[in-house]
Amino acid sequence: MRSSIKDIKHDLGTIVDKNEKHKSAMQKQKTKVDAAIDRADIERGVAVLLTGNGKGKSSSAFGMVLRALGYGQKVGVVQFIKGAQLSGEEIYLRDHCPQVDFYQMGTGFTWNTQDRTGDIAAAERTWEQAKRMLQDPAFDLVVLDELTYMIGYQYLDETNVLTTLRERPIEQSVVVTGRGGGRALQNIMDTVSEVKDIQHAFNAGIKARKGVDF
Ligand code: ATP
Ligand code: MG
Repeated sequence: MRSSIKDIKHDLGTIVDKNEKHKSAMQKQKTKVDAAIDRADIERGVAVLLTGNGKGKSSSAFGMVLRALGYGQKVGVVQFIKGAQLSGEEIYLRDHCPQVDFYQMGTGFTWNTQDRTGDIAAAERTWEQAKRMLQDPAFDLVVLDELTYMIGYQYLDETNVLTTLRERPIEQSVVVTGRGGGRALQNIMDTVSEVKDIQHAFNAGIKARKGVDF
């Protein structure tokens, strides 16, 4: 069916109207954002907690590793759980980024062990490495991957962990990942994001995917 001139004029009028409304909304948004940017004038490292049951916590942390490396910053990564499967980020960092201080809990805790004493010893050994980085101002960014479980299982002393996180060098940023972790940890972090599990491929029987899941 052909549109009449009247219809076309009406449609054009609607588009112009929409564009005007969009422009005005964007201008208001810009004013708000600019004001917020002006207000944020504190220069210091940030503590980020990535938690929740959905997929995306560790991969987001490694995204920040990439960002920091882009600026030539010094990065430390400590992984508190050794998966059965090597991860792509681990392979890449070890092969191409020798400047990244990368430490993994190694033979200690996995989901398969039921050896609490052995797990605690491994957690403590690994925490020593984390502490070394958290006390060294040369590190711009420290990632503590899956640290929350060490607090949750009481493998590490919560007060000691939180104090060390809080007392890190002023310019140093830290990223903690893992489900749970508790209110006390959340309270000392500057940014806390919860990744919500809405749906995961694994539950539909799709195998964990190289480059996506590990
Ligand atoms: P990723 O490393 O992909 O960012 P993550 O750190 O948020 O994931 P973890 O709990 O550490 O999640 O689990 C890591 C592995 O488990 C990944 O292979 C991920 O795809 C998978 N996974 C994460 N969340 C879920 C979920 N809700 N259901 C099933 N598998 C999941
Ligand atoms: Mg993870």
